[in-house]
Amino acid sequence: MLYCREIIVELLFMPDQIVSVDLGGTKIRVALCDADGHIIKQTSQLSLAHEGSDAVFARIVATIHDIAEDFSNVRGIGLGAPGTINPWDGVLLEAPNLPGMDHFPIKARLENEFRVPTFAGNDANMAALGEQRFGAGRGVAHMIYVTISTGIGGGIIVNGKLHLGARGFAGEVGHQTLDAYGPICSCGNVGCLEALAAGPAIARNAREEIHKGRQTILLDLVNGDHTKIHAGVVNQAARQGDKLSLRVFDRAGFFIGLGLVSLLHNFDTQLFVLGGGVAINAWDLLYPTIEKTFAKYAMVSMRPDVKIVPAELGDDAGLLGAVALVSDQINK
Ligand SMILES: [Zn+2]
Repeated sequence: MLYCREIIVELLFMPDQIVSVDLGGTKIRVALCDADGHIIKQTSQLSLAHEGSDAVFARIVATIHDIAEDFSNVRGIGLGAPGTINPWDGVLLEAPNLPGMDHFPIKARLENEFRVPTFAGNDANMAALGEQRFGAGRGVAHMIYVTISTGIGGGIIVNGKLHLGARGFAGEVGHQTLDAYGPICSCGNVGCLEALAAGPAIARNAREEIHKGRQTILLDLVNGDHTKIHAGVVNQAARQGDKLSLRVFDRAGFFIGLGLVSLLHNFDTQLFVLGGGVAINAWDLLYPTIEKTFAKYAMVSMRPDVKIVPAELGDDAGLLGAVALVSDQINK
């Protein structure tokens, strides 16, 4: 009798658990979390995307089994993936970093395998949700997350909810045209924020300045091989006072600032959270120009109290956003 009561009490107080998956082109990360965004345990393995969709899916399943042997308290699975994904039916539509996974029904396949509700979304959208719920945007109802690394992506939170748009693709903040005469972007558009301020744009701008004959220590840092220049090297040179590199970051900060101004004017948001390797590693190089540009060009009536801050969750933002996604859906 006493034993039965103990089991019932234990079941009643057993905290809900959520399995969170961050599916990337290089790595699959899986975490077992509680509904409050605490990671209980996590693991990762290589995606080996070139082996095709079935092999990648089998690895996701095996990694989930590794981390959650006992599924009795798992209320759902949340997954973030790169590329375009239908957030309602969870079909991965286009994933350039995961060859062979276009049109893969990841939500349906996981639900079939684990028999728990599964929800999926774009990785940058998941990171936005993670920062808003558990990171730099805690308690803020209107927030825009911008991740700046090899590309520029993001997520728009309106009234505490992720803004999905008509087709589920909203938040492509890196693909707003800021220079009609600027470089062609990977998306086919011209002068996008991504083509002007992401890591590859920073490296390209540095190389262009070198070709103009400007003085720099950059070439010394890459043993004279300008093809080895990447945003990290430009960052390193800027920290040594290299004027060319400082100018390149200044230019990137200017376009990021302009991008934030446009987003403010469109969404009347309260907070910008900037994440991704380039934004975090070069925060002190970029922020003064971002802030100056923002202060100069944002509409006076919309500017007060808007903050621009660095992301807090690092690589865990996507995992925790997927937890928030599941938690919101199962507690509807
Ligand atoms: Zn673009």
